[in-house]
Amino acid sequence: MQIKPMIRNNICLNAHPAGCAANVRRQIEYAKKNLSKDENTPKLALIVGCSNGYGLASRICAGFGYGAVTVGLSFENEPSEKRMGTAGYYNNKAFDNEAGKASLVSVSLNGDAFSGETKAASFEAVRKASAKAGIPAKIDLFVYSLASPVRTDPKTGVMYKSVIKPIGDAFSGKTLNMMDGAFSISKAEPATEEEIFNTVKVMGGEDWELWMDALENEGLLSSRTRAVAYTYIGPELSWAIYKNGTIGRAKEDLERACRDINRRLTEKNKICGAWVSVNKALVTRSSAVIPIIPFYISCLYKVMKGMGLHEGCAEQITRLYRGRLYTPNAAQGAGAVPVDSENRIRIDDWEMRDDVQKAVIEKMEKITPENVFSETDVAGFKHDFLETHGFDVEGVDYDAEVNITD
Ligand code: NAD
Repeated sequence: MQIKPMIRNNICLNAHPAGCAANVRRQIEYAKKNLSKDENTPKLALIVGCSNGYGLASRICAGFGYGAVTVGLSFENEPSEKRMGTAGYYNNKAFDNEAGKASLVSVSLNGDAFSGETKAASFEAVRKASAKAGIPAKIDLFVYSLASPVRTDPKTGVMYKSVIKPIGDAFSGKTLNMMDGAFSISKAEPATEEEIFNTVKVMGGEDWELWMDALENEGLLSSRTRAVAYTYIGPELSWAIYKNGTIGRAKEDLERACRDINRRLTEKNKICGAWVSVNKALVTRSSAVIPIIPFYISCLYKVMKGMGLHEGCAEQITRLYRGRLYTPNAAQGAGAVPVDSENRIRIDDWEMRDDVQKAVIEKMEKITPENVFSETDVAGFKHDFLETHGFDVEGVDYDAEVNITD
């Protein structure tokens, strides 16, 4: 069969296996060129949320940039005779395939990261992978890169759903349809206390803490372990729906969890350190559905590309590793990691530069339906979105027949 993208309301319903594989290979080439291992770089990495976006780039950079053994966990649909797999399924497959060719040990697990069973299966996989590579079963790098709409609490069995809503006042903002450049107004009523609580349960830091505690109980941590989880802050114009909304509340809890992990583990010398890294706004499955963000990103990309500052996931994570977590001073430990006053790593520094933000805000004020294609990078947004699902990737023959279960 031939596969063409099926897109509804900034959500892509299918994926192209060959395009996903080509996209993974492109990021691998970038990581190989821009990172190199030394005695301080990770040898064994566990990546939770490894199949897409920031987690996929984190895995590629650890595996192909530093030669680390990688165990990756994600929650993706596998293909069947009747139904395609999700992009993340094909990304994982491509990653393992390329790792095999490069003699890198990799294991990809498909399961719900929030469940105790999946955590146990991941620990088992870490032990097996490290034994295969002949290295100690001690995780040097733990990346927590989940973006999930639901979570079942493993202790109570209660399922919580996250929502993207403002807190306090209703939100109304311009949203951009990347396919045709049409604007519409997106509205959201303020979240109830229950919705705020539920979103914190799903996207907050509780599960990250459960992972760290379980890893410690299993003896899989060491004073070399660096743990990182990702967040976004963004410009003030998005705060009503993001930073000051339900997701922002959950991200505050992620930072609270980071402080607690550092108190429990770093201060007792059980790990090197835990950090929340503030990353740049990028087009991923998750970000495309947040109101105002597609419009903002389309303007941001235009400005950052114009200034030669644009980065994708692989470039961001390369800078996170090379310039923050594993600098030439990494042997000095956690103190050598550059952080802001809140102990957060900032790789959103270029996005948040005053000159960049000023140019983006000015641009957003001038955009009309008539000039949206020439004055913003909505085309780049659309390309990146399609690419995330394996479409619009250079060098891929989209007229060729595809076997979806391959
Ligand atoms: P993404 O949608 O591209 O990837 C999410 C990953 O989580 C996938 O691998 C998916 O399989 C996995 N996942 C979801 N539910 C799971 C579950 N129950 N069990 C196991 N795996 C599960 O997301 P992304 O945009 O790369 O976001 C990753 C993190 O980075 C999030 O915490 C997000 O807030 C943060 N972040 C994103 C941006 C951005 O612009 N995209 C910017 C800054 C920070």
